[in-house]
Amino acid sequence: MTGDAADTPRLRLTATQEQRLRELGADPGFLEGRFVDAATRDAAFTRLQDDLTRAGREHLRELRTGSRLPRLVELEHALSAALVGAGFVRVVTPLMISSDALRRMGVEHGHPLREQVFWLDDGRCLRPMLAPNLYTLLRRLGRHWAKPFGIFEIGPCFRRDTKGASHLNEFTMLNLVELGRPEREGRGRLEELAALVMAAAGVAEYDLEVTESEVYGAMIDVVVAGAEVCSAGLGPHPLDGNWGIVDPWVGLGFGLERLLMAREGYPNIERAGRSLSYLDGVRLNL
Ligand code: ATP
Ligand code: MG
Repeated sequence: MTGDAADTPRLRLTATQEQRLRELGADPGFLEGRFVDAATRDAAFTRLQDDLTRAGREHLRELRTGSRLPRLVELEHALSAALVGAGFVRVVTPLMISSDALRRMGVEHGHPLREQVFWLDDGRCLRPMLAPNLYTLLRRLGRHWAKPFGIFEIGPCFRRDTKGASHLNEFTMLNLVELGRPEREGRGRLEELAALVMAAAGVAEYDLEVTESEVYGAMIDVVVAGAEVCSAGLGPHPLDGNWGIVDPWVGLGFGLERLLMAREGYPNIERAGRSLSYLDGVRLNL
């Protein structure tokens, strides 16, 4: 009668074991596991630690020999190739933007995003988004190119987001925007472009959800297993007048680290981002 109770697995990993396995990238399910006694637990811990360490070393070896590049870099290449293949033009714009550019995006004092901006001492800031630069280029390129045409940028953005499992202070945004298709085609085109990016990113399962954004009003989010990987919007939009844009547009902004997190099943975004503790998701104190 007492035998059953004694055999019930109740023992958790120690805090140190759990921390170690988390760093090594263990499946979160394993970290919740229960064991019948300390010997069984410690053996399971050692086995998994060895497996993960071996896999990490193998990954570092592949990086060392050049047989692979960091996933963030590979993802950037894959997304860029897919968009160029679809006729989009890649652009590269400044990381430092003016306070006026934010104001023209409707990000003024009292606006929640305003609190997340990293200010430089000359009134400029590190861009928290790509939209102001892309708005400017759309207007200028519209004088040269027949519509519709599309542009995209992939590069760093900065936000003082409260650190959590899915926010980084510096992350990589893909923002694509297409100008000049008839407004009635907007929603369909948005879905088509979302599908193009998700296929290039290697994420098969996702949902589209209609939400409200502080900056753009009604938005459509691309969500993977409950986590937002993209916010997308449609113009004409009230902000367009600030940028001299009169044609309809479709725009989508993806976080590359969020895409990696979704695809690789990382429980924490830190593994996907720029880091000194990880190289391409491999913990360096193996
Ligand atoms: P969230 O609500 O998740 O904080 P958001 O709606 O504020 O994100 P957007 O302004 O819609 O973010 O930015 C577009 C995309 O950029 C997001 O869908 C997400 O993939 C990515 N992103 C935004 N903020 C961060 C961050 N701090 N760290 C990593 N990725 C981010
Ligand atoms: Mg969003």
